[in-house]
Amino acid sequence: MTVPEERRARELTAHWEALRRPASEVRGIGSGLARHLEAMGIHTLEDLLLHFPRRYLDRRRISRICEVRIGEEATVVGTVCSTELKRLPRNRSVLSVAVYDGSAYLYGVWFNQPYQADRLPEGTEVVFSGKVQYRFGRLQMANPAYDVLEDPGEVGRATVHTGRIIPIHPASQKMSAAMLRRLIMRALEQYGDLPDHLPYRLRRRHGYPQRSQALREMHFPTTRGRLNCARQRMAYEELLVMQVALALNRRHLRTETPGMAHAPPGSLLAGFLAELPFRLTASQERAFREIVADMTAPFPMNRLLQGEVGSGKTVVALMALLLAAGGGHQGVFMAPTEILAEQHFRNMDALLPAHLGVRVELLTGSTPPARRRDILRGALAGDLDILVGTHALIQDDVEFRDLGLVVIDEQHRFGLRQRITLKEKGAHPDTLIMTATPIPRTLSLTLYGDLEVSVLRELPEGRAKTSTLVIGADEREEAYRMVREELAMGRQAYVVCPLVDPSGAVEAKAAEKEARELRSRFPEYGVGLLHGQMAKAEKDAVMEAFRRGDVQLLVSTTVIEVGIDVPNATVMMVENADRFGLSQLHQLRGRVGRGEHRSRCIFVFAGESEESWRRRKAIAEINDGFDLAEADLEIRGEGSLFGTRQSGVSDLRVARLSKDFLLLRRARSDAFALVEEDPHLEKPENRLLRLEVRERYGENLAWLFQA
Ligand code: ADP
Ligand code: MG
Repeated sequence: MTVPEERRARELTAHWEALRRPASEVRGIGSGLARHLEAMGIHTLEDLLLHFPRRYLDRRRISRICEVRIGEEATVVGTVCSTELKRLPRNRSVLSVAVYDGSAYLYGVWFNQPYQADRLPEGTEVVFSGKVQYRFGRLQMANPAYDVLEDPGEVGRATVHTGRIIPIHPASQKMSAAMLRRLIMRALEQYGDLPDHLPYRLRRRHGYPQRSQALREMHFPTTRGRLNCARQRMAYEELLVMQVALALNRRHLRTETPGMAHAPPGSLLAGFLAELPFRLTASQERAFREIVADMTAPFPMNRLLQGEVGSGKTVVALMALLLAAGGGHQGVFMAPTEILAEQHFRNMDALLPAHLGVRVELLTGSTPPARRRDILRGALAGDLDILVGTHALIQDDVEFRDLGLVVIDEQHRFGLRQRITLKEKGAHPDTLIMTATPIPRTLSLTLYGDLEVSVLRELPEGRAKTSTLVIGADEREEAYRMVREELAMGRQAYVVCPLVDPSGAVEAKAAEKEARELRSRFPEYGVGLLHGQMAKAEKDAVMEAFRRGDVQLLVSTTVIEVGIDVPNATVMMVENADRFGLSQLHQLRGRVGRGEHRSRCIFVFAGESEESWRRRKAIAEINDGFDLAEADLEIRGEGSLFGTRQSGVSDLRVARLSKDFLLLRRARSDAFALVEEDPHLEKPENRLLRLEVRERYGENLAWLFQA
């Protein structure tokens, strides 16, 4: 670097670092205000500048009440001059709030929300937005969106037509939106000349405004168009930083970390495939090809295998384990529960012809001590090829002679520490992660953005279709009739009870009650009960009885969500389906339709909200788990998704995974290209980007920042 370049770099860094100073540096923020800000999570200048409005009030479009047109969407500002609450039978009510703006009256009307009255006492200045109706000789809005104006002067009638869009910042009891608006305005004046960590090349390519300009528009938009543009830029910037972090990790893992180069598929795999009782699906074949390419390369594999329950992941994992075994390495397969570990073990054991001489063992918390000692000896000596198990695998005394592959099922059920501990039992083992939870593409690009992904989209042939029926709580008899029909044909049924409380105690009670009820309703059939409060031996006995067919009707809580595979079960009734997420409902549905018989899944919904209706429609119409996950994301937003916390998704301030898919793709491809060119972010033009990446994701990039 030349001397002026170096000086410029130092200046930029100092400028960037200045934003990490306390928010109290803004003129007018004393210790009292600073404390209120702290309580809202606003500590630094940057926190304050990035505290974006929740929404905006388009003051340019405020109408005088005497001028509003019936049927139009309008915004009016006025003073509450009377409230009237009418109580109706059965807990219903109608609240009418009259507002006067000097020209006429308009009523806000709320049904069954009496508490709104507390927020709208007489004399309050409010803004109502909604569709104007004419009812009972008066103008009204039903359930208007409203704001209470703490500081009427700012949106006063005198300045109604001044053509500004007013930001409504997320506020607190102690810190009103109006106060925040003033503080942020001042912060922008004082510190608004921000350094831009978005490399100039990228900014120009997409025609984005500068950071300082975008920030101003976010807080105090001049037009909707510019606000939109600013929002795009801020969302892109956030996603870019995140994707750069992922790209750095991915590249580091793939090209800078020593790994094991497994021998290509040989006679062991050929022998296995020759006796496999079915043909692999096209996606199983593709997934395995991808795995072979990773494993035979001299870098560690970090691949995610995604596929619904029953899509045949275990077979693919077993083939990967055999690839390792063929070259003399050992493999380990960790599942989150004993039920799952046992099922995988049984599955593998059944598929492996004895003459191949592959030794597979199962290690869980219930493995008897003598057996356990024997298994550990085998693992250490190297004459055990594959070890399947639960958390029990992580214990210190589980050691391998030569661990070459780690398979982890449903990794989100394990902590990072546990995964690392397992990997550290080998020198540089390859890793295959499996998940049956369908993840929307947006989320998998963030949550698993540094992994390679293989997807099993099709189910093996020969599975009968499952039809889905959505019914209301009052149509339950119909559901029981269908259950009876299936039982009469010699089939079996599940009845799933809702999750009532996280502790499981109430849930167990609900399931017990349901079981009693069904026993009297279906006296001629065996009814079994399964819930989380039961002892393992008890659970095992019930499951085994259901598997054998001694129990025809199994009442359970969600413990069956993963695990059970009983092809003769052809009908499932899910009570209180409102309480489950769409993906969870879909997983439940996957428990039937496992054999050759047509199956039915009946969801009982009771909720009457808009969301409940959208969910009913989605589960009834969409059969693909991934499409359903997308729909869930759209209906409930990202807060509903598992894993959003640890992935940093919840730290995104502007970007919304449910809406910004295209932006995410753009950021991702830019980020990966950038890292390809500058793998350690050493180029001068990426200096600030590097600081930003370290600030947000440094913990995950220790290899880069602690070197
Ligand atoms: P997953 O682990 O994805 O839930 P499994 O691997 O347990 O699915 O497969 C479910 C069942 O389907 C197992 O009994 C397995 O042997 C069987 N199976 C797997 N792949 C195929 C295939 N290509 N054709 C037919 N059956 C298959
Ligand atoms: Mg490898």
